[in-house]
Amino acid sequence: MAYPADYHLHTYLCGHATGAPVEYARAALQAGLSEIGFADHAPMRTDGFDDWRMRQDELAEYVEMIRRLRTEFPRLTIRLGLEVDYIPGYEDWVCELANMHQWDYFIGSVHYVGDWDIDNAKKVQLWHEREVDLVWAEYFELLARAAHSRLFDIIGHVDLPKKFGFRPRGDCTRLYEMFIREAAAAGVAIEVNTAGLRKPCAEIYPASELLRIARSYNVPITFGSDAHAPDEVGAGFASAIAHARAGGYTTWMQFVQRERIEERLD
Ligand code: ZN
Ligand code: FE
Ligand code: FE
Ligand code: ZN
Repeated sequence: MAYPADYHLHTYLCGHATGAPVEYARAALQAGLSEIGFADHAPMRTDGFDDWRMRQDELAEYVEMIRRLRTEFPRLTIRLGLEVDYIPGYEDWVCELANMHQWDYFIGSVHYVGDWDIDNAKKVQLWHEREVDLVWAEYFELLARAAHSRLFDIIGHVDLPKKFGFRPRGDCTRLYEMFIREAAAAGVAIEVNTAGLRKPCAEIYPASELLRIARSYNVPITFGSDAHAPDEVGAGFASAIAHARAGGYTTWMQFVQRERIEERLD
């Protein structure tokens, strides 16, 4: 069975991932992958925005590193991407980043709700202090805006607020549909991300219900392990494929220089 590409790999440049890119590439081949893509945390316009992304002056090094890796692993297709934060007001910065290099794709991720990065393990306490339902509602509102911006090819880990297990009391169907309608209108893909399997929520992002809604609106998918270490490359992909199939998907999207190509999920 041919696996879909793992489009969500990090590098040590973000400061919280381990191992050298060559180890990620080797691990990919060992896992039976034929295509991977790096999508490390993009710099912000101002360095020191937080402590979990590369600096601006490291961006060229990042690009060079991936290019070099391509020549070292001719049997592996290696894409050049970025995981870019969607924060209202920073749209111009995302455009600037887009023009800096020949990217294959941008994963637009919402981590920040206001000035709180909701998936930051050092800030779990805030989940106890906030109204969980409101955080989820705000999060999906931001996802919808991220899709609407048309700045991204893929929207990352779309139900990230479940990471630490804080779930809304109410039904999320309306929130999910509101976001998915925007994603469909914008023609953006969403990511089936296996990192959730390694987190307290112990579940792939997105949940089955959300994925089924996405399928019903013909929103395409990509796959990502969100690897922050070599042994996480391709992690949970068998489950992710089963999850996608159960949601009705038979294809995934390949991205080449920000153009997409539909591939069969076999
Ligand atoms: Zn990270
Ligand atoms: Fe992320
Ligand atoms: Fe990531
Ligand atoms: Zn991520």
